[in-house]
Amino acid sequence: MTLLVQKYGGTSVASIERIKAVAEKVAASSKVGNQLVVVLSAMSGVTNKLLGWAHQVQAEPSAREMDVLLSTGEQTTIALLAMALEELGCPARSYTGGQVKVLTDGAHTKARIIDIEQKNIRKDLDNGKVVIVAGFQGVNEAGEITTLGRGGSDTTAVALAAVLNADECQIFTDVDGVYTTDPRVVENAKRLDNVTFEEMLEMSSLGAKVLQIRSVEFANKYNVPLRVLSSFEEGPGTFIGSEDASMMEMPLISGIAFTSDEAKLSILGVPDIPGMAYQVFGPISAAGIEVDVIVQNVGNDQTNDITFTVQRKDTAKASKILQAIAKEIKAEEVQVDDKVAKLSLVGVGMRSHAGIASRMFETLANESINIQLITTSEIKISIVIEEKYLELAVRALHDAFELGDTETNSKA
Ligand code: ASP
Ligand code: MG
Repeated sequence: MTLLVQKYGGTSVASIERIKAVAEKVAASSKVGNQLVVVLSAMSGVTNKLLGWAHQVQAEPSAREMDVLLSTGEQTTIALLAMALEELGCPARSYTGGQVKVLTDGAHTKARIIDIEQKNIRKDLDNGKVVIVAGFQGVNEAGEITTLGRGGSDTTAVALAAVLNADECQIFTDVDGVYTTDPRVVENAKRLDNVTFEEMLEMSSLGAKVLQIRSVEFANKYNVPLRVLSSFEEGPGTFIGSEDASMMEMPLISGIAFTSDEAKLSILGVPDIPGMAYQVFGPISAAGIEVDVIVQNVGNDQTNDITFTVQRKDTAKASKILQAIAKEIKAEEVQVDDKVAKLSLVGVGMRSHAGIASRMFETLANESINIQLITTSEIKISIVIEEKYLELAVRALHDAFELGDTETNSKA
């Protein structure tokens, strides 16, 4: 018998009609003999609405009360789905995180799953019931309700699939899979049949927000076969798995991920002596600022220039810290540019092929796009460019590496 964990996101359960439609899908899958554990999000918009209410009542609500509040969104949808399934004659039972139980640490609003009890779930499955579990929530040792952080239902689903050793964890959402790049930017972007965990991690960390990153890390760690598919139309979706399981023939490049949410900071004329990088990045990291690309240029006058990127929202904070450091270590100057974007070519096929980088740079040169920073890993080449050229760069590279759907390929 096939055991599937299916997760339906907020848009899939956004109304009573849609909950009934999910019930139809689930009932059909149960009827053909699958064992099903269904994880739900709150109706789309509900978690935000609850957050808004909380802040109308108290400026800084305690994290404990926040979790009591936020967990109600998912508690609503699981009960409604159980009713809808019963109405279709499909036996079902809903569980909150606490009832299952999904044991987490005590970090309210950003808890991590420690363990999941299987007892109740197995019993219901053995009795032919569909088990419905509230996503995004758990319970700590003390019995307090916890939540897993925004988008946490994906992680609930993957964790359940890992514990139950499910055949597949299916994430139903409002897109029909993972694409070579954002279809809003490149019209003939193509749905990928397969992508590896590693590639998916690179793509989702760069703004391809189909799945919560943490859930992909979890799936990778426990080797949970994942599939992203649409809850509104039929289709195979995109399978995400380990490299050997997911594909026979590796495409060179799987996709182009990008984000325009970046800022670039440079500190020039840093004395070329040990400890300087630490002096620069220690205070930045202590302020909770995430640093991404880092490049150091060695000058020939006993000084270095260090350049790095941060998320754009952190620009002011990072710049202030950097100014102070510059004074302290007698660096020459700080430069800040918050009009930059990052773009990455991602593909495990890169490992065994030379020449990808030069083809990438040639393509950008032909479009007269200036590259400001370059970094690479085994499966990715990232560049930082001026933000206004981002879409042009994505389209040119998508074409140059022939990632598009050939049927709808237009030379527009
Ligand atoms: N409802 C939660 C959120 O909006 C969890 C989720 O949907 O995954 O973040
Ligand atoms: Mg979600």
